[in-house]
Amino acid sequence: MTNWVEKDKKQLHPVYHPKSHANPLVIERGEGVWLYTADGQKILDGMAGLWNVNAGYGREELAKVAYDQMKQLAFTSNFSGMTNLPSIQLAEKLSGFAYEGLNTTFFTSGGSESNDSAFKTARYYWKRKGKPTKYKVIARKGSYHGVTLAATFATGLEKYQTMFGPSVGGFVHIPAPNPYRYEGDIKPGETIGQAAARALEEAILREDADTIAAFIAEPVMGVGGVIVPPDDYFPLVRAICDKYEVLFIADEVITGFGRTGEWFALKHWNVKPDILSFAKAITSGYAQLGGMQISDEIRETMESAPESEAYMHGYTYSGHAMACAVGLKNLELMEKDNYPTRAKELGKRLLEGLNTLSEFAFVGDVRGLGLVCGVEIVSNKETKVADAAMAMKIFKAAQERGLRTRPVGNVLAFAPPLSINEEEVDEIVKRLGAAMDGIGWKVSG
Ligand code: PLP
Repeated sequence: MTNWVEKDKKQLHPVYHPKSHANPLVIERGEGVWLYTADGQKILDGMAGLWNVNAGYGREELAKVAYDQMKQLAFTSNFSGMTNLPSIQLAEKLSGFAYEGLNTTFFTSGGSESNDSAFKTARYYWKRKGKPTKYKVIARKGSYHGVTLAATFATGLEKYQTMFGPSVGGFVHIPAPNPYRYEGDIKPGETIGQAAARALEEAILREDADTIAAFIAEPVMGVGGVIVPPDDYFPLVRAICDKYEVLFIADEVITGFGRTGEWFALKHWNVKPDILSFAKAITSGYAQLGGMQISDEIRETMESAPESEAYMHGYTYSGHAMACAVGLKNLELMEKDNYPTRAKELGKRLLEGLNTLSEFAFVGDVRGLGLVCGVEIVSNKETKVADAAMAMKIFKAAQERGLRTRPVGNVLAFAPPLSINEEEVDEIVKRLGAAMDGIGWKVSG
């Protein structure tokens, strides 16, 4: 039998350490929510790849559209002076699709590029507005925004930065509105949402509003531990951004395209961003595509620019013809099967199921919105001490039982394909429960 693991050493993997990559799963095939390894294991993918395979694996319709588009035209330059039909059609489809007033799309190949584009666009916008001192970005602790140099330092997780410093500068971090463990200060009578929004206002005042270009936030934090904000947070954030002329960038790389039970997650709170970053589920992972949408106001400032102030930003693969064709088809499939509603209903079922595991002593908190859920593992329910080692142990035990989750710090994340059915949702809970049972640390009585 081919030793794939040995041959795999010719590849440097993302977020690599030899210890964590000593025994990788070699995936050969996928169908629906199921992955099949080269050595014959069948695994329920509770993470939809990396939170992105919303339409599930093995979709013929997407394979066919990629084939047809590649034959017709896989790629051509999309730089100014040229365009192609799939990118025109997808941009048209996306116009106003996520939020009213966001009618212009700039395409990238993934989420990091989308956020990098958002930061550059915010700087560009303020220069065009005659306010070149506005260049800083406020982000939240625990956030994940990708791995370009700028996105690395926008990210609020130190482990992504330690070996790549010094920081590029210009990023300021404030506490995230974590209802389970808020790390900022709370004044008497304040909610966590109010306290976390106040942290934004204080940071703007401390840094000077004339230096702040934008605020960036994931509506539901993913890699930082699946943090669902309190309902009052984002409306307050929007008002503060407006008050101090700060652009609001929504990083919906995970939450976009139905994951949380709405097509885009800020809809839950009736809030609109000025810039939207997306990627991942736009193609359900069938092609590498991301993008950034900008408000009509930002677009207008571009339209009136002199040639010397052209927007000199773009990627070879911006508006890739095949990727855009796949994106269009994927959206059609997701609309046909009403994926946001599925995510809402099945997410409720998943959350209820995961909540039954609260009986285990190491389950500190269970939370989620639509089909993105987190189970926080602690060594003591009262003191809430984070237990990443136990989370890793449970992750491994679940994998032995054919369930793929992802330990993000001490939180086990779940974001299965939105094509999942009721029995498969129950199977996630059953297998996770069996994994925890195997560890056997139950609260008595
Ligand atoms: N933003 C968020 C919220 C993400 O979760 C990710 C990736 O997981 C990114 C940005 C980066 O996207 P990519 O890995 O496609 O560059």
